[in-house]
Amino acid sequence: MADTAATGQQKMEFQTEAKQLLHLMVHALYTHKEVFLRELISNASDALDKLRFESLTNPAIKSGSDEPAIHIKIDKTAKTITISDNGIGMTRQEVIDNIGTIARSGSKAFLEKMTGDQKADSNLIGQFGVGFYSVFMVSTSVKLVTKRAGSGEPAAVWESKGESDFSIEEGTREGHGTDVVLYLKEEESTYVEEWQVRSLIKKYSDFIAFPIYLPNDKGKEEVVNQTKPLWCRPAAEVTQEQYKEFYEQVLAGFDEPLSILHNRAEGIMEYSSLLYIPSKSPFDLFSLERKHGVKLYVKRVFIMDNCKELLPEYLRFTRGVVDSEDLPLNISRETLQKNPVIEKIKKTLVGKILGKLKELAENEPDTYKKFWQEFGPVLKEGLHMDYENKEQLLELVRFQSSNGTKDEFTSLKQYVSRMRSDQKDIYYITGESREIVEKSPHLEVFKSKSIEVLFLIDPIDEWVVGDIYNYDGKQLKSVMQGDLDLGDLGKEEEDAKKKSETKFKKLSERIKNILAGRVKEVHITTRLKDSPACLVSEANAMGAHMEKLMKAMGQTVPESKRILEINAEHPILMNMHARYSADPKDPDLEEWVHLLYEQALIAEGQMVPDPMAYSRRVNNLLMKVSAKTGNPGPTDDK
Ligand code: ADP
Repeated sequence: MADTAATGQQKMEFQTEAKQLLHLMVHALYTHKEVFLRELISNASDALDKLRFESLTNPAIKSGSDEPAIHIKIDKTAKTITISDNGIGMTRQEVIDNIGTIARSGSKAFLEKMTGDQKADSNLIGQFGVGFYSVFMVSTSVKLVTKRAGSGEPAAVWESKGESDFSIEEGTREGHGTDVVLYLKEEESTYVEEWQVRSLIKKYSDFIAFPIYLPNDKGKEEVVNQTKPLWCRPAAEVTQEQYKEFYEQVLAGFDEPLSILHNRAEGIMEYSSLLYIPSKSPFDLFSLERKHGVKLYVKRVFIMDNCKELLPEYLRFTRGVVDSEDLPLNISRETLQKNPVIEKIKKTLVGKILGKLKELAENEPDTYKKFWQEFGPVLKEGLHMDYENKEQLLELVRFQSSNGTKDEFTSLKQYVSRMRSDQKDIYYITGESREIVEKSPHLEVFKSKSIEVLFLIDPIDEWVVGDIYNYDGKQLKSVMQGDLDLGDLGKEEEDAKKKSETKFKKLSERIKNILAGRVKEVHITTRLKDSPACLVSEANAMGAHMEKLMKAMGQTVPESKRILEINAEHPILMNMHARYSADPKDPDLEEWVHLLYEQALIAEGQMVPDPMAYSRRVNNLLMKVSAKTGNPGPTDDK
């Protein structure tokens, strides 16, 4: 009966991913098992934050006279350690949802990471938000007693051995909050030693904003951690070590931060900010339900995690804390949007972060390079979204180029400083990878004249390049689009082109007819040196790579016809011209024209429209060539 199910004891299976996770926790993780304590304390602290926040707006919840705190008790005889908080607690259904059945976003990513990594390290746990299960690394069984504040529901008792199931039933608890009791494994009984637990709290949870009580060796409860928020202290008094610990303990940072910005604003607006630029991107940087970002506090009261209104999306890699004196405590997600205080803080933070990145780029290029490799594509989004800071962002973006190796990046400024004195524009090529663009026929004339070309190979570059448009008075020009105008640099090619245009006029028309429906025009090129032909887009049309990206995103893209450019000085074209002059109807011409077109597609990383027809053409050609170059006939070696 539903009623019994809601109050009596229920046995339930863990959800599949949860089971896999538990299995890993118990059997595959063997380093840093002690992080279970950090995870439980962090959950307790979150529960206290939630209570404080809900009590501001929900009259059914009174945070009461009890001091919000975390209490840890150890029992040497029973070999148990208990972590208690008087936070928000959970209803029976919340227990089932949160730590039993519902797949959590981090679980899958965690499992993927773990299975690929032999050196399983428990440090991954916090990063993926699958912390609670870490209790089973050290316990034979775990009991959780919890009561939800303001719900009027009785307490719920959850118990499990961390295998495939758990039980849940009604219980009693004085007041709201949660107790987690761990029945320690024999070999993990060191966690009943007071000194051990104390040192773990200092190591992993020192900056938790609520007091953590632990009985000393005389049985008297003492606060173990420092509770004054780190961001409230003057920067001069905080050590690097403390910043790092705060990053790990409060912001769930798992890497070495690249840069730390700690500021206090006083005057018209008062707030503190402590921001970190990480060195590694979290697994969910591109997910909408990202967990970490900037936490918002108002007068030291936690308001929310990952407050997206505080920073633009393109700076979402930043983690940290902002604590405002000017916002009302009962601010909600809805009222945050367009809030003038938030808007002003955001503006200053953006300025500070961009300023810091500029400083890194100028003074610590190696550090900046690390940043760029990790977050470059994200920062580039700013060029599309933040017009106000475009100038600054233009100094911060980096690209690979024909001038450097795949590990080198250039700024636009550096590119300009290397431009040939007679060069007017900045040239770029877009494509799927360095390997593809590097070998592109479109680069031939640039190589021959030592003109540097930027390689735009991030998917986002196609969008970004339109936003850059020009830099330092120089236009950005695609080497694959429009009429190539190299100015004085291309004089020689232009003269040759004019001559060939007359000579090739008729053949060009014939080619255009053969490729009717596929190409819009056939032009004599100035781009090519070694290749016979290539495809280009019209100046304002969508480039081939952009088209491919749009299709990959499921967009319907109008089929745009492109221009086939032919190299009149290439032997193939010269031969074709000779054949055409002798017999304008020569049937071989048709086959060759199709082949030239198909090869041009392949060279750009595109698909040929009819692969079977393509291979038939190549085979026919091979047949002819092999027959001509001495077919020895059937072998006859007895
Ligand atoms: P995370 O804390 O990263 O979300 P966990 O596996 O540690 O992942 O916890 C799962 C969920 O269980 C939490 O998000 C929270 O909703 C709930 N929870 C865990 N511990 C507590 C607690 N002490 N009080 C209230 N809720 C808790």
